[in-house]
Amino acid sequence: MSRMDASSTAASTIDWARVRADFPLLTRQVHGKPLIYFDSANTGQKPESVIEAVDDFYRRHNANVSRAVHALGTEATDAYEAARTKLGKFLNVRSDELVLCSGTTFALNLVAYSWALPRLQPGDAIVLTRMEHHANIVPWQLVAQRTGATIKVAELNERGELDLDQLYSLLTPEVKVLSLTHVSNVLGTVNPVREICREARRRGIVTAVDGSQAAPHRALDVAAIGCDFYAITGHKMCGPTGTGALWARREHLAAMPPFIGGGEMIKEVRFEGTVFNDPPHKFEAGTPNIAGFIGLGAAVDYLSSPGMANIEAREQELLAHATEELSKVPGLRIFGQARDRAAVISFLVEGAHAHDLATLLDLEGVAIRSGHHCAHPLMQHFGVPATCRASLAFYNTHDEVDAFVAALGKVRKLLG
Ligand code: PLP
Repeated sequence: MSRMDASSTAASTIDWARVRADFPLLTRQVHGKPLIYFDSANTGQKPESVIEAVDDFYRRHNANVSRAVHALGTEATDAYEAARTKLGKFLNVRSDELVLCSGTTFALNLVAYSWALPRLQPGDAIVLTRMEHHANIVPWQLVAQRTGATIKVAELNERGELDLDQLYSLLTPEVKVLSLTHVSNVLGTVNPVREICREARRRGIVTAVDGSQAAPHRALDVAAIGCDFYAITGHKMCGPTGTGALWARREHLAAMPPFIGGGEMIKEVRFEGTVFNDPPHKFEAGTPNIAGFIGLGAAVDYLSSPGMANIEAREQELLAHATEELSKVPGLRIFGQARDRAAVISFLVEGAHAHDLATLLDLEGVAIRSGHHCAHPLMQHFGVPATCRASLAFYNTHDEVDAFVAALGKVRKLLG
């Protein structure tokens, strides 16, 4: 561990080397080299406590939730509901306004199909932004096709931030919903969602925020953001895959019809008609990913131990170091220079294809992502088919950044 990893700022009261040791996967080698995992925006690594929570559920408590009165059934239900409570505290929302679901993709589809589809009409408009993940574009396109609504796009300035004047100029009376990401998965841009949601609300526009890339990096106060819907995904915040949640204002949950029908989401079923369960259970048909949510509860506990403020400070140190070192690499272009950024760096090196760079870096043990990052419209904006993306987390180190930059220098020469 370098001197910088035991360094001197706020985040340094935490022993980050010990934190890193909680992640068993980070000790492995890839192609004979120590793994440097810089793909946390894609999915985060899991600490021992999350792995153990999932393991313990299957070894000692496995039963279905909300169905059986036997001891195991009660244990499973209690643990599942405890995860909802923890997540509610983590986001600062009421847990009975949290719909547990498979992740952001499901959560945003739930908003699109259950809230928007019955409401939008020809002449209505939906506002999205240039930096959205496909999960926050395609559901709206499907709804627009079925309702006759149109989609308007908020564009970016030269730093890769939202052009707020242009965004606000789009918020005209026909706009019924604005759906935007809190943090860009490609540029790391942190959008001022609180201000944006306030402006939308003043105009009577409903807001949905994709928090996939915010929840792993920042202390969140969803209630203070003032949005109508907020979506998160568990696997990016140290939790298991197939877990996530949609927070929605109570009045929306009460008014929205169920999205998927089946068991768990009903009070009574007759062939003449069904009485649905109360929210949030009305939106949770079928057997959920019980072990996954128990793991997500453990992830929330885990993140709360250093605390999100320390995690953010740690990641900002790593981001500053990585940005400085990368800017010394000849021919390297970083996409997005937002004033408020999470630890995500998209880049290209002159004369090298993104996939070639990522493939050669993998041989050096460095895992980064290359491609369009499920953000085609953003790639179109920059006029490139793909970028490389290094995304860092608090469990990374300054030494890893240095090793990554050295490896990049090596593969750049090979490709040049
Ligand atoms: N939105 C953003 C900004 C993302 O980065 C991702 C995942 O990459 C998603 C949505 C999709 O989330 P999920 O994996 O839960 O489907």
